[in-house]
This record gives sequence, C-alpha cells and structure tokens, in this order.
Amino acid sequence: MSKILIRGAKVLGGDVQDVLINGETIAEVGTGLSAEGATVVEADGQILLPGLVDLHTHLREPGREDSETVLTGTRAAASGGYTAVFAMANTHPVADTAGVVEQVYRLGREHGYCDVQPIGAVTVGLEGKKLAELGAMHDSAAGVTVFSDDGKCVDDAVIMRRALEYVKAFGGVVAQHAQEPRLTEGAQMNEGVVSAELGLGGWPAVAEESIIARDVLLAEHVGSRVHICHLSTAGSVEIVRWAKSRGIDVTAEVTPHHLLLTDELVRSYDPVYKVNPPLRTEKDVLALREALADGTIDIVATDHAPHPHEDKDCEWAAAAMGMVGLETALSVVQQTMVETGLLDWAGVADRMSFAPARIGRAKGHGRPVSAGEPANLTLVDPAYRGVVDPADFASRSRNTPYEGRELPGRVTHTFLRGRATVVDGKLA
Ligand SMILES: [Zn+2]
Repeated sequence: MSKILIRGAKVLGGDVQDVLINGETIAEVGTGLSAEGATVVEADGQILLPGLVDLHTHLREPGREDSETVLTGTRAAASGGYTAVFAMANTHPVADTAGVVEQVYRLGREHGYCDVQPIGAVTVGLEGKKLAELGAMHDSAAGVTVFSDDGKCVDDAVIMRRALEYVKAFGGVVAQHAQEPRLTEGAQMNEGVVSAELGLGGWPAVAEESIIARDVLLAEHVGSRVHICHLSTAGSVEIVRWAKSRGIDVTAEVTPHHLLLTDELVRSYDPVYKVNPPLRTEKDVLALREALADGTIDIVATDHAPHPHEDKDCEWAAAAMGMVGLETALSVVQQTMVETGLLDWAGVADRMSFAPARIGRAKGHGRPVSAGEPANLTLVDPAYRGVVDPADFASRSRNTPYEGRELPGRVTHTFLRGRATVVDGKLA
C-alpha cells in the first residue's frame, strides 16, 4: 500500500499538522509524523480541506461530447479541488432511466479523477408531464438520491407534490430549478434598470421567488425535503430564511458567479455573461454572501455549464446560457467570502464539502480530516495570485466569465481515495 505524508498543512485553516495517508485512508493526523516509506508532500502552511463536492455539474455526456465529457469534466473537477460531483440529468438522452444513470456513474469510476454521482430527472424527458422512474434510478448501481429537471423548472404543482412524496420514502431530495416559465418567456437578462436601458427582455425576481415560496410550502405539506438550486435574488434569501425558521426541511445553493458578478456586465453584450438564472444586482450579490455566511444558503454549487465556442461566440440573443465553473469556484469563494471576512476556511469546508455531501448523501465524501476516514482531500495555496487563462482549463469548454481577471488561491494537490489526481497544480 502506498503511503503519502502531507507535512505541515493548516487543517481546515486551523492548526498546522501532518496527515499520513495509507492506501485509500487517512491513517494518522498529528505533529512530527514519521515519513518513513512515504512520499512527502510539503504543504508549507497551505490549507488542507476535505475534497470538495459539487451538487450541480453539467457533464454533457451522453449527447453533447463536443462541450464536455465525463472524462474532461472530472479532470476539470479534480483541478478545482473536487473529489465528487453530481451530474445533472439534462443530457441527450435525458438521465431519466436506470440505464443512463448507470452509464454516467460507471464512466466516472473508470476514469478515476473524481466520483460522479448522477442526478436523475424528475420527469420523463424533462417534459414536466410524467414522473420518471425515480425508484428504479434509486435502486440502480448509481444509487440516485437527488432528482432534478434542472435547466427546466418542475412548474406543475401536482407533479412537484408527487415527486416530493415519492422521494420521501427513500430519503431522496428534489432539487428545483426555480423559474416560473410564463414569467420568463423571451427573457434575456435580469429585469431591472439595465435591462430597461438595453431594451432586453427582463427576467423578474418574482419568477424565481414565487416558485421557491410554493415549493417550500409543498415540502412542508408533504413532510419531504426540497433543495433549491442557484438562488440569485435577495427575495429568495428571505423566503428560504422564513422557511427554515418555520422548520421546513429546505436547503439551498448559490453559484460562485452569483456571489461576484452583476447585471452591469451585460452592458458589454458579451454572451459569456449570459446565464440562467441571470446575473442580478449588487444588492442581490451582497444578500447572497450574507446568507451563505449565516447558513441560510447551505452550499456553494458551481452550475458548471460548458458550451462549445460556436454556442457562445454569437449575438447575445442567440447565445446559450451558462458558464464553466469547476476550475475557478474555490478562488471566487476565497475572494468573495474568505477575504471579505464572511467565512473562515472551516466555513468553506462546510459549504463546499460537508454540507453538499450531506444533502446529496454522497458516501465517503464530505468527511472530517481524521484517522480512519477516506483520503479525499484537497490542498490549497491561498497566497497564490493568478490571472485566469481559459487555455489552462482541463474542461473541454472555455466559456468562463473570469478570463483575464485576477483571482486568489490555487489548488495544488487533490487526492481521491489516497491517489493524487492533482500534483503541484497539474493533473496527475
Ligand atoms: Zn438550473
């Protein structure tokens, strides 16, 4: 069995310690550990976190391998410090059967960069009409626990109620893309001052907030749990805060881009800023940061949405919605949450590993950095400063809103069950 000694790391940003990995497991955590027979990684005071877990990734395989595959997406994930990602169901074919989810799950295991936990569709073909085979997907080798029509909203209240009732039986969760479809027909960006000035179709905050309000009430009525994808407005935060105070079993996520960017960027008409839900206002950004800090929002999830060049390099109205995010997420969180004093590194470990693993029931991930636990770890150099160059990405797509922007921090090492997937900032 191979041994690795990570020497002198600030575990979760706390005390400097050594961590000895033996095979797939953390053997010992302490000071002055023996390096005998071990490969030594000198951490020099870098931050050691549990491997990150992304509850919201689009891997595009099967069907759109020109934008991402399970291999390229999991390589991007490892580069970003992730050891597990949940793959959204809006592939071609849609992941609405046991066969498709098993295929995606197996590809992740074969490639070995990052575990892939498939998300099953709530409805057949994401059409919102008929429940998909949720039980069969759960009972399959992929063991699906998270269900979502993401990209589309489960807008029919009866279908949503049935889905919540169904997954309750086996402890699953429905992850809702909250977007009232009639209120967002033809919408191109956030509805507000900027959309009025640019003459672009607006996407009102109420389209998101009305669905969240409905769904927390449905979850309460059914006694099930519900997860809200990518919160983007201050009003959504207020509703989730109210629901939690009432004891409703709701969890919520925010993307890195909604923690940093605003709709002012749309003035450039650069489609790299076109995303669903849209970039909102400064007031929303600040409310989302505060909510992530106080736990109203449970987790950061990337909504990594790769698109090929031709789908983004076109006029605003025709461009696809979405941004890649796996390789920049931790840096954006460091800038917006750690360097602003809103979260410490233990808080980052919670929002990007412990909590997402708990919500998605990811076995072996989001575990404490202590002896006997699986060695899923990521080592981060917070002092690093670098300019984002998409040419460096492991992702097959380049649609990042951060090109040319300086961001702090860099993942130097990632370990998946004791095996290095990233060494000195490069894929192993
Ligand atoms: Zn979505």
